[in-house]
Amino acid sequence: MPENYRPAGDTLQGRVIAITGAGDGIGRIAAKTFAAYGATVILLGRTIQKLEMVYDEIEQAGHPQPAIFPINLEGACEKDYEDMCQAFFDEFGRLDGLLHNAGDLGERTPIANYAADTWQRVMQVNVNAPFMITKALLPLLEKSSDARILFTGSSVGYQGRAYWGAYAASKAAQENLMQTLAQELEDVVPVGVNSINPGATRTQMRAAAYPAENPADVKSAEELMPLYLYLLGPDSKGISGKQFSF
Ligand code: NDP
Repeated sequence: MPENYRPAGDTLQGRVIAITGAGDGIGRIAAKTFAAYGATVILLGRTIQKLEMVYDEIEQAGHPQPAIFPINLEGACEKDYEDMCQAFFDEFGRLDGLLHNAGDLGERTPIANYAADTWQRVMQVNVNAPFMITKALLPLLEKSSDARILFTGSSVGYQGRAYWGAYAASKAAQENLMQTLAQELEDVVPVGVNSINPGATRTQMRAAAYPAENPADVKSAEELMPLYLYLLGPDSKGISGKQFSF
């Protein structure tokens, strides 16, 4: 991203962007920010009440009318994602952006104690679901003239760390999925595929991972938004297969 990048106010004008985990944390701020910059956002998440609050905030601000698509990434299967793709096609005809943001922290415990069912849930939400969502939505993204897919990584996905268990492994797998996909789409379709590691950000997940930390010492999700706008918008055209980190 260029230094001191400042996106134009209409940088996402006319784009249709789906965001997983849009009801809380970074996903909630991303949804509201994308809408403020002109995007029609599709809010994906498992807690309808939270999605409705984001929907109302966007509508009250006078931004493009969003859409809600409730889905629990833990239980959804390939058919659910195919149905989701059909629903998006019927309503929008294409997709210009996909932000894989939802995440499950799992347990903070040694591998020796790590519960196998928690391991499977974290891998399901953090890796299997992004794979199935991406696969299902690729045909819609290919209908866009300039689409983006953004995966959400973590420093423990770059280098494993004690007690981060399935979360670290799942984030490493997401990076690999991003690289594989970026290479497959290179020179074939105009879809840029990248990943972003937001770094320490003031959300419920961060508080759960670091309960002794003072939240005031951690940056807000709003501070991340220029890079998210860059990576979902036209200014990052031609950039693919790259890791971006705070
Ligand atoms: P939050 O816990 O605040 O938000 C996570 C979101 O994911 C929530 O909207 C949550 O929904 C949703 N979600 C979790 N499980 C499921 C599921 N099974 N089905 C559907 N939605 C689900 O986390 P953050 O905003 O902090 O994290 C966003 C992303 O950033 C994650 O991928 C995380 O790994 C990554 N990240 C965050 C960092 C940080 O410091 N905050 C640092 C590095 C990476 P609900 O609200 O309904 O539970």
